[in-house]
Amino acid sequence: MSLGCPKALVDSERILTRLRAEGYEVAASYAKADLVVVNTCGFIESAVAESLDAIGEALAENGKVIVTGCLGAQPQKILDAHPQVLKITGPQRYEEVVASVHEHLPPKHEPFVDLVPAQGIKLTPRHYSYLKISEGCNHRCSFCIIPSMRGDLVSRPIGEVLREAEQLARAGVKEILVISQDTSAYGVDLKYAAQVWRGAARRARFYDLAVALGELGIWIRLHYVYPYPHVDQVIELMADGRVLPYLDIPFQHASARILKLMKRPAAAEDTLERIAAWRKIAPDIAIRSTFIVGFPGESDRDFEELLDWLRAAQLDRVGCFEYSPVAGASANALREPAVPDALKAQRRERFMQLAAEISARRLAAKVGRTMAVLVDQVGDGAAVARSASDAPEIDGTVRIGGDTRALERIKVGAMVQVKITASGPYDLEARLAT
Ligand code: SF4
Repeated sequence: MSLGCPKALVDSERILTRLRAEGYEVAASYAKADLVVVNTCGFIESAVAESLDAIGEALAENGKVIVTGCLGAQPQKILDAHPQVLKITGPQRYEEVVASVHEHLPPKHEPFVDLVPAQGIKLTPRHYSYLKISEGCNHRCSFCIIPSMRGDLVSRPIGEVLREAEQLARAGVKEILVISQDTSAYGVDLKYAAQVWRGAARRARFYDLAVALGELGIWIRLHYVYPYPHVDQVIELMADGRVLPYLDIPFQHASARILKLMKRPAAAEDTLERIAAWRKIAPDIAIRSTFIVGFPGESDRDFEELLDWLRAAQLDRVGCFEYSPVAGASANALREPAVPDALKAQRRERFMQLAAEISARRLAAKVGRTMAVLVDQVGDGAAVARSASDAPEIDGTVRIGGDTRALERIKVGAMVQVKITASGPYDLEARLAT
């Protein structure tokens, strides 16, 4: 429940954005809610009275209430009237509200369904934020149960997405991570319906969304993109510096036979050719992907094909999972031989070894370069930051050392210029550029 002025509304939206990205849903009534967050106003006495009434009503109807907002700056006033509230925080204390929701209603992390990494759920700092643009998926990958759980693709109207992004930017977010099950399919279900934002019609289309987000002047990172032909246009936006030169594409495999068994979208694309073309357009592009090894029927030949593909693709960031069947997935009915667990583990190890060698080589080539990084942590005479190539939680970091006095002045969420001084398999080291 949100009371008060537009600033309070921005706070409410910020809290909702976080919680929605983490899988929480907004309930239409007290009875349907597991918990109520009341964002209060304390500007004048009538607003205080209205806020206290709202808290009382939520307590009577639901029982579990977290209070935030301006009146939260006077906790005793609230406690005198309603001692049973679970938590009181002041205005703009989004993290504390979200942490309190986590405490009283722990997020259920579903590894097969969630878009946000488990670690990301615990503490999403205020300088970056996930932006969910759609729910569900029109594909039917054989190892996946998301469409049966979340249904077909339902895109959020573009005006709504852009307003949320704008509010995040206004609230101080420096990096937006666009997430969905299939970002490149955004708007297909809406027939790309246009809405006006900042005085111009914007179509609900992946490219148009990327253009509009690029106008916010903050980092825009695109996750879960499939290599459809129209993605090439977005690479040009990356080359122009309008969105980050970073693409998270879950390729999952390279063998055409396995991709067919997996029923992967855009499986017919010549991905190596596409990657080479993208790197011509945006030479700095960092490509991240995930893979599954040990899918039913994966032969030695299929696996070697995958390694050859990775050698040729030279991906920057790679995650790899051993296949494990998920209850309800159609892959369970495949008449293909299962890959023994020991062989799956061995294949994963070989794959990750190769990925680490490629990553180390690509990072070594960055030594000596100057680049902008976003600071995530400061302390102990060093700062930990990320470059355009590093998404939070899943990619590497840039550790900034050197001049401790200058480092002490840096704040979390600052964008600073650094010179890269050394590299490891996944991370970089740097000092502040002068
Ligand atoms: S694209 Fe495939 S793996 Fe991804 S959500 Fe859709 S069905 Fe699942």
